[in-house]
Amino acid sequence: MENKLLEAAINYSHKDFRIFPLHSVDDQGRCSCGKQDCDSPGKHPRNYNGLKGATTDETQIIKWWRKVPDSNIGIRTGRGLFVLDVDGDEGEDSLYELQEKHEKLPDTWECLTGRGRHIYLSCPTDKYIKSSTSQVGFDLDVRCEGGYVITPPSRHYFGNTYEWEVSSHPDDIPLAEAPGWLIRLACTRKKSNRRWGSSFKTILHIGERNEALFKEACHLRDLGLDRDKVEHFIYLRNRCDCIPPLKDGEVETLLRSAYSYPRRNPRKKGLSEGSERVFRYILEKSLHKGHCRLSKNEISLAVGLKQRQVFNCIRQLERSGLLQVQEHKGLEHLYFPQTHAIPWQSLHIGVEGSTDPESSVQETPLRVVK
Ligand SMILES: [Zn+2]
Repeated sequence: MENKLLEAAINYSHKDFRIFPLHSVDDQGRCSCGKQDCDSPGKHPRNYNGLKGATTDETQIIKWWRKVPDSNIGIRTGRGLFVLDVDGDEGEDSLYELQEKHEKLPDTWECLTGRGRHIYLSCPTDKYIKSSTSQVGFDLDVRCEGGYVITPPSRHYFGNTYEWEVSSHPDDIPLAEAPGWLIRLACTRKKSNRRWGSSFKTILHIGERNEALFKEACHLRDLGLDRDKVEHFIYLRNRCDCIPPLKDGEVETLLRSAYSYPRRNPRKKGLSEGSERVFRYILEKSLHKGHCRLSKNEISLAVGLKQRQVFNCIRQLERSGLLQVQEHKGLEHLYFPQTHAIPWQSLHIGVEGSTDPESSVQETPLRVVK
């Protein structure tokens, strides 16, 4: 048998894992589904009923890969298979903290992915452990019931392949049991409040200034805003809202630290690329003022989207808590990016009775907290 993918798929099925075919990527990173803007190249099901069709039946598996030999391999998780998806440096940090607090994860199978690793563990079958995102820890995802993983030697869209970590290969070591603390964390449903917009704090006191400003800088960085604009905002926020403000050198350090991490893909957090562009444009137009007054037509021209799309993006931003929209003089709208809600409030701009917020903005000096 010369097809490595088929061979591996059959091997996994012999270990009683449920297999199904995924789309593949070519050398240019294009997905075999043919969609120009496919948002998960080589990662989504190729069979008609996806995950539900996953099977251990060798005949079916052979049929799939005979038909399309380059399909990536999906393994349905759950029913005893628990995979911890450690995403990038942030995921590694979260895992490190958890292991310090509880205990180290046992040696088990481990797969290297494009930006992190998948740790395979077995779990009790009498518990319903749902797949989750950033629930057990930030950028630590659980693939269990209702989920699947892409396995070696599937091809990644960066042109690399998923590979087993040399010392953690399924042929060499047994699949270890997930520790109790991890299962408990995975089963504890908590309302995730990861969105910065919704947890934005007006005034920052000693003990929370550094972390909050760091997170805000990372968030803005992830939105793709120019670094000097991010710095401008963070310095402004420090001067206006931190009691007492951090020293400039401290702000400089946290900014440098924020930029020492790679930019995370904000689409993962649910913002479409269009919304991201719209938000960035509104944010840039709001610097120094905390808000802006733009027509949909202007936004549409600037970001290269149709007006109807701009409308949808603004709705999405509003829902995600990143943008507040206020009607102004009938048809006009004022946009308040959440990042600026605070300087705007602490500058006493736009309080009731103010007829033209835009002009009062320039006249009001910054309230510098000593
Ligand atoms: Zn695709």
